[in-house]
Amino acid sequence: MAQGHMIPMVDLAQLIAERGVLVTVITTPVNAKRFETTIDMLDRSGLPIRFVALPFPCKEVGLPEGCENVDLIPSAHLAVNFFKATSLLSGPVETYLREHKHYPSCIISDSCHPWTWDVARNLQIPRFTFFGICCFTLLCTHNIDSHNVFDTITSEREPFLVPGLRDRIEVTQAQAPGFFPGDVWAKLREEIKAADEAAAGVVVNSFQELEPWYLESYQKVMGNKVWTLGPFWLRNKDASLMGARGKDAAIDENSCMTWLDSMKPSSVVYVSFGSLTFTSPSQLMEVGLGLEASEQPFIWVVKEVELCPEMSEWLAEGFEERVRDKGLIIRGWAPQVMILSHPAIGGFVTHCGWNSSLEAISMGLPLITWPHFADQFLNERFLVDVLRTGVPVGVEDPAAWGEDNSHVHVTRDGVEKAVRSLMDGGEEGTERRERARQASVKARKAMEQDGSSYDNMTLFIQQFTQPAVKTATLSA
Ligand code: UDP
Repeated sequence: MAQGHMIPMVDLAQLIAERGVLVTVITTPVNAKRFETTIDMLDRSGLPIRFVALPFPCKEVGLPEGCENVDLIPSAHLAVNFFKATSLLSGPVETYLREHKHYPSCIISDSCHPWTWDVARNLQIPRFTFFGICCFTLLCTHNIDSHNVFDTITSEREPFLVPGLRDRIEVTQAQAPGFFPGDVWAKLREEIKAADEAAAGVVVNSFQELEPWYLESYQKVMGNKVWTLGPFWLRNKDASLMGARGKDAAIDENSCMTWLDSMKPSSVVYVSFGSLTFTSPSQLMEVGLGLEASEQPFIWVVKEVELCPEMSEWLAEGFEERVRDKGLIIRGWAPQVMILSHPAIGGFVTHCGWNSSLEAISMGLPLITWPHFADQFLNERFLVDVLRTGVPVGVEDPAAWGEDNSHVHVTRDGVEKAVRSLMDGGEEGTERRERARQASVKARKAMEQDGSSYDNMTLFIQQFTQPAVKTATLSA
């Protein structure tokens, strides 16, 4: 239960419901509240979709009340308790589904919820595992693990080539440690592996034309059908109406659009590092100063948790005034896809979360890649080495989730240089922009009627529906 997992799940639920299949989205009260605007809109739309909020057992595992999303975990050591609480949902989910008037045909659940395999087995229905990551990153992670690469290196900062790939992809163990690394996660890792191997298929938020070789190769190693059904979010025909996505925006959407309307086409850089990274005040100030020095208009998202008194003062006392004509600062949750879909946006400084990456790909935007942790360094390699729409900012060390990240990874000069290079109108920049444009055309085609993701969805639904009963359950 994290924004980057739930947002695509809710999009997926809508995509399935649009095909006439009854979908139940199982979540928890705090998360349902975040999606209230979407839920209200869906209620009015008449789509066969409903949200069920089951109580989350915080108290039972020593979590503070209401700690129902990864971004609410107060300290990294409590992450294990969070996953324990999540697995305790298996009883209530099974009871709910048994008592449900429409017995479900299948469960589609995030790979991080291996316990849903037990529920599916008990109900004797298939479970599909969902990954909010591309096939490239899934294959790289699989190959690094299956070739025991970490046994062959002397330090976690020693670069190595990912084995068994078509392209030359170089990373370090620190950058690509695999999912849930370390002893404390060994049990969960094993459970996820077993549940994914046993799954009836794998659902990925990607599309065939984006990464055909990686999709085919990943399918081979999984020995299982991999369903590319995305980009899910493109089901929303009008991105400019998508203010509240995952949470209500912290800025008035109309004034944000009016500000963008006043800018030249493809001139504004959008800067956001997703929902889970935490950037220290000293690093944030370097970002701000680098943007200012680049002389490029920008929208910069600073999260609520990053707005300590020192940062708030720095923004308010001088910086914001100096950049008033060029910069818009969003304090809190941004209406990201609404912003990215505006013609004034010309580039995206991203942490390389897969959703943000795919949103940029669908919009035909070149990127500055600034990975922090998890799958992000591998996603960066995909954007820079395979798709060639990304300009690396040059970070080599992860800024791990929940750890002290007070040192500066990238200076203002580094930020300025990357922004100038991204927005450069020269030959290299123009070619990069053209590659990004072509990828976005393919993304849109994939989701249109008779496109690859559209057709895959038809086949996917045929997998689990019978003529009489058409219901699916998503655990988000
Ligand atoms: N997002 C948003 N507003 C924000 C920050 C993020 O709408 O201020 C959305 C973004 O569009 C994406 C998701 O939240 O769909 C973040 O997912 P991603 O995989 O990019 O990063 P994560 O947050 O999982 O690291």
